[in-house]
Amino acid sequence: MFSHILTDTGDQRFVIQVHGGAWAIPETLKLPHAEGVRRAYQAALDNLNNGKDPMRAVIAALKVMEDDPVFDAGTGSFLNEDGQVELDAAVMEGKDLKAGAVASVGRFKNPCEIALAVMERTDHVLLIGAGAERFALAEGFKPVDPKSLVHPREYEGYEAWVKAGRPDSRIFFGEEGKTGTAGSRAEHSKRGTVGAVIGARSGAGFDLYSGISTGGTRGKKAGRVGDAPLVGCGLYADNEGAAVCCTGWGEAFIRMAAAKSVSDLVGRGAHPQEAVETVLRNLHRRTKGRGGIIAVGRDGRTGAAFTTPDMAYAGPSCEQLIL
Ligand code: ASP
Repeated sequence: MFSHILTDTGDQRFVIQVHGGAWAIPETLKLPHAEGVRRAYQAALDNLNNGKDPMRAVIAALKVMEDDPVFDAGTGSFLNEDGQVELDAAVMEGKDLKAGAVASVGRFKNPCEIALAVMERTDHVLLIGAGAERFALAEGFKPVDPKSLVHPREYEGYEAWVKAGRPDSRIFFGEEGKTGTAGSRAEHSKRGTVGAVIGARSGAGFDLYSGISTGGTRGKKAGRVGDAPLVGCGLYADNEGAAVCCTGWGEAFIRMAAAKSVSDLVGRGAHPQEAVETVLRNLHRRTKGRGGIIAVGRDGRTGAAFTTPDMAYAGPSCEQLIL
């Protein structure tokens, strides 16, 4: 399921790609997903057209999807094994490899903004849990009642997950031969991480930016950190490679250092489409994991592919890989 949007903004000043998770999206949820990623894309484009810094455009796209309970990020996220929301988010800039991330935060509506603050206002890259929340409060972010981040549907989903014997997250993304079927259409698997990559023209090339936000996987262990906030795993941005954003079974993406792998392939001359397909194939061959990846290279060329039944996507072009 895709929203194909031509990124011809007249003089090709910007390239934008947005995803809203790779999984088996039920028919009834296809339209809300398509609308959600389109709104996120538009928010990024509006910010760029208004002269905002491209990193702010990434944040604008992420916030649209964090606030849309259709997606597994911010409001509407999956609950962990204790029935609580724990959010991960990260941002990265390709020019000087600056990055910021937070993991396991439960009291803030838009963790992507806290990740940006970590990048801009600290000399660290990743803050977690209580320390991340203390930093957010000190920076003036308003805490919310954690319950306000929970969509009623997630309480039901949590109950169903408990009744189903607390299956582990591998079945959501189809680790064949272990716990489930490839690209499982199980009820548990609904919703996905959100991400955005942007190329903004700068001289002969494009400056690269990426951002990601997620509630992780349903029933994850308390304290589990997925690939999303780990630089090089769920996201990467390098002006000498690519801006990359991943979604899928996070543990597999961590083990493959997937986002950095894509960026390195592009840096060595691969087309971003070839790079995302190569890494997704390797990820499946080596770990049986599935998911999706979006990327944009220094020359503004894009790559986007997924190995699940669907991926919510807005951008110029996206391919389903049949493995
Ligand atoms: N990669 C995310 C995680 O494992 C989940 C997703 O992309 O849907 O936390």
